[in-house]
Amino acid sequence: MKKVGLIGWRGLVGSVLLKRMQQEDDFKKAKYYYFSTSNPNTEVVIHGNNYLLKDANSIWHLAEMDIILTCQGSSYTNSIYDELRNNGWQGYWIDASSAKRMHDDSIIALDPVNKEALICALDNGIKNFIGGNCSITLSLLGLNSLFKENLVEWCSMMTYQAASGAGAAYVRELLSQVKYLSDNLDFNNNANTLNVIENAHKVLSSEDFPKQQFCVPLLGNIIPWIDTDLMNGSSKEEWKGEVELNKILGLSTSKDYIKVDGLCIRVSSLRSHSAAITFKLKKNLSLEELEAIIKKSNPWINFIANNKESSIHHLSPIATSESLKIAVGRLKKLNIGENLYSVLTVGDQLLWGAAEPLRRMLNILLQRS
Ligand code: NAP
Repeated sequence: MKKVGLIGWRGLVGSVLLKRMQQEDDFKKAKYYYFSTSNPNTEVVIHGNNYLLKDANSIWHLAEMDIILTCQGSSYTNSIYDELRNNGWQGYWIDASSAKRMHDDSIIALDPVNKEALICALDNGIKNFIGGNCSITLSLLGLNSLFKENLVEWCSMMTYQAASGAGAAYVRELLSQVKYLSDNLDFNNNANTLNVIENAHKVLSSEDFPKQQFCVPLLGNIIPWIDTDLMNGSSKEEWKGEVELNKILGLSTSKDYIKVDGLCIRVSSLRSHSAAITFKLKKNLSLEELEAIIKKSNPWINFIANNKESSIHHLSPIATSESLKIAVGRLKKLNIGENLYSVLTVGDQLLWGAAEPLRRMLNILLQRS
């Protein structure tokens, strides 16, 4: 049986991964070892079994694994990966972080979209399989057939990303903001509403308001920047949209390269990212034709009719959280130019946006060996 080392299993992506692996009975398929960066050599109970945590910073412990699956983050990958390979480790590296995504010796794993490329990469000796950016993965999977049929000329993506997309500490901070506001707001039903809003604003703006992680309140607010500042007007999260989409579709050096740009915004949803996408098609299609293409051979979407009732109930972070289905809706033709359309995709960024492609990649590797 293959030895699989799991790193970052305590984090949000790791926790969702373990849950999915248990649901799919994956633990039978290999021998699993749990690693920790913060508490090596301690005993833990996972799914009723006792494990002694291995040291995630020990090259020797890591080198014993046939496959390493890490959800620990980019800093960890940057600190350990090269040293591990330089010590001769030949195993497979599966990673949720962006550290190696754009490297030539890595492929982005999203098998419903690029399974053939993944198999081809394996045949060609590629050993690094990296999960894609959560927003781009969800939108790409939601609109898979549209991209596969080479219909899209360009797209503009405006994302509304959940607090949990930033990790466990951040979503906890959002919830502590909710508690702080509720504990400190003088709110009774008879109070003048403008006074209540002004009081709430005071609480949100107070020095003691919990904001160590996000730096600013997320509750009652939006944060119009995700990831680092590329110093050219764009955030790294926005840059990832174009380069990763084209890498996944195998178009990075193709004449069919798709231009993608937009703004990535953190909002106070707990879980599930949304992307409002404006796209230009290479030809004019009716909405009926477009809907048929989007639905074609895609078991992972829930197509939501473009009306108020369906949209507010089924096209939202709350409606899609904990589901493997990506809601695709608000499909309409825009009246501002030729062949321009809008669509909203909403999906659980911890499932298809992070853990699920990694779990499936692990299964592909285990099935081959
Ligand atoms: P996370 O929740 O912050 O967990 C990462 C690590 O932080 C854990 O493995 C744990 O390591 C440590 N940690 C510190 N405090 C913790 C706490 N209170 N609860 C749990 N763990 C804590 O990060 P994540 O969101 O899972 O993201 C992991 C990687 O996946 C990142 O590279 C991220 O960019 C990527 N990713 C995330 C998402 C998402 O939606 N969150 C989506 C796509 C990709 P130790 O146990 O070793 O201390």
